[in-house]
Amino acid sequence: MATTSPSPSRPLVWFDGRVVPWQDARVHVFTPLAKYGAGVFEGIRGYWSDDARQMFVFRLREHLDRLTYSQVVMRMQPLVPASTVHAALMELLLANAFTETVHIRTMVYVDGSGESAAAGPTALTITAVARPMPARVHAGVRAQVSSWRRIPDHAMPMRVKSNANYNNARLAGMQATVDGYDAAIILTDRGKVAEGPGMCLFMVRGGVPITPDVTSDILESITRETVLTLLAEDMGLAPVQRQVDRSELYAAEEVFFCGTGWEITPVTSVDGIPIGSGEPGPITRALQTLYFDIVHGRNASRAAWRTPVPA
Ligand code: PMP
Repeated sequence: MATTSPSPSRPLVWFDGRVVPWQDARVHVFTPLAKYGAGVFEGIRGYWSDDARQMFVFRLREHLDRLTYSQVVMRMQPLVPASTVHAALMELLLANAFTETVHIRTMVYVDGSGESAAAGPTALTITAVARPMPARVHAGVRAQVSSWRRIPDHAMPMRVKSNANYNNARLAGMQATVDGYDAAIILTDRGKVAEGPGMCLFMVRGGVPITPDVTSDILESITRETVLTLLAEDMGLAPVQRQVDRSELYAAEEVFFCGTGWEITPVTSVDGIPIGSGEPGPITRALQTLYFDIVHGRNASRAAWRTPVPA
């Protein structure tokens, strides 16, 4: 049987209540997970610190809270409690003995052989693989406003991380790639800016950072909340959450994406129109530096956001 390729360098996976080799983490084709995408997940980063010789998991509590909330919204039963996920995640990270930054994916899914309305049985799996964002992405990306619209909240709850939501992201991302762009920007069905396929969006206009509000069919992103806090408390700015029009993007001095995976990524053009000078702007650059210093623990502030993995 073909395994996922390329195989990550640290192949241990949390599956079926224990740590197993990568190739042993398998589900049946008849599970509601496979048939209907009946799963919820979190993408989390564990940042390796060379100075501390230790890994710090960024905003773990918030990710575990959202995983619980996603299970409730997607009507999964029984819930897999945050304490169970926390313990399993630590066991997996220790078993892999990482000395590099990793992307952790925790997933709770509907196992068994039920039909689309099955609530359970629920199961937990966790993978952690080294998958850094390429430096060229952090240097800036060219974005396209997608012709695919965001699924509205009255059809599927995009504010939670449900596996099934991500086919909307997939179509937008593929369209951007086929059309020669690096990333997609998705509008709501009301024509307002929502977010990217796997990241939130900010723009800067007149020196003010602005991001779509949480009723814009976006994921309730943890990085977005981190960025709002850092902009206000560390950078002395007054960020605004409101509806954003597409044409405002073209008029913005700066646009950037943010997310656990995308971290802080400048957007240098939208639909071929350069943003500002066409280079990452000063607020985006300063925020990138601050964010990376905080997640790695080089900046000692916000210690509560970093959960150390016991050596
Ligand atoms: N929006 C979507 C659709 C996402 O998948 C992600 C990645 N989780 C984000 C935004 C960013 O969310 P977070 O900051 O919580 O990773």
